[in-house]
Amino acid sequence: MERSVSKLLRRAAERGGIAAAMREWQLRHDDTVTNNEQMDARMREALAVMRDSAEKGLDPALRSVSRLTGGNAAKLMQAALSGQSAGGSLLGRVCARALAVAECNAAMGRIVAAPTAGACGILPAALITMQEEYGYSDEQLIDALYVAGAFGLVIANRASIAGAQGGCQAECGAAAGMTAAAVAFLKGGTPAQQADACSFALMNLMGLVCDPVHGLVEVPCVFRNVGAVSVALSAADMALAGIGCPIPCDEVIDAMRQVGDALPASLRETGEGGCAACPSMCGGECQ
Ligand code: SF4
Repeated sequence: MERSVSKLLRRAAERGGIAAAMREWQLRHDDTVTNNEQMDARMREALAVMRDSAEKGLDPALRSVSRLTGGNAAKLMQAALSGQSAGGSLLGRVCARALAVAECNAAMGRIVAAPTAGACGILPAALITMQEEYGYSDEQLIDALYVAGAFGLVIANRASIAGAQGGCQAECGAAAGMTAAAVAFLKGGTPAQQADACSFALMNLMGLVCDPVHGLVEVPCVFRNVGAVSVALSAADMALAGIGCPIPCDEVIDAMRQVGDALPASLRETGEGGCAACPSMCGGECQ
């Protein structure tokens, strides 16, 4: 199951859903837990850290040590709350929270790597704002975290969740896939629709390069969290509308791995290409 979405779906059909299948898998493979209550308590703590980072990141005075990032999530939230967001209130708040958590991370705040620190804003922003908008319980959000974790597990084992290995598609792309599946779950989608949502998100972020300016997880990272969560929501919407992804999720993940393998070193977290090589970002000294 940890290497195949098709096996995950078969297990979900036997166990009554992806969250249940993921709980069972973790109980069998994680020596640090012995029952569902322990695992759920851990998820609850992760949710609390996610909420806290989303809150702290909205401080207008927040700045990273480099001062490259910080304070922008507050602007985006203000725009969302005052009706200025082009995408409406829900998307505006989701985007603001994705930026908030990412800016909190850049300012050395505590976050949940979901699946990595660079991509930490995407999943919390969607879950917290979906709860705010639709009134989901914490228990439903915890189940959604298991759903996200199940897809993240397969992506990590079948491809990569490291920018240095697979580009930003492996970080923000993977987070968007996990989030799309979790959102589809919360909105009542079937396990197959959750997998389609993940596929659409991965497909739409395939090829995204890793190009951190000055090697810091700040630019373009924090802004990519905003783009990726937008992709996650639209991917979930497509799946929930009954659009089936023409390519099975496992094949999309395999394609993502192959694209990552084909990326040159300059676009895999070395800070030598892409945004990192823009003249204004490297004092005109980069190639
Ligand atoms: S650009 Fe690289 S360092 Fe930044 S979030 Fe993406 S994968 Fe991580």
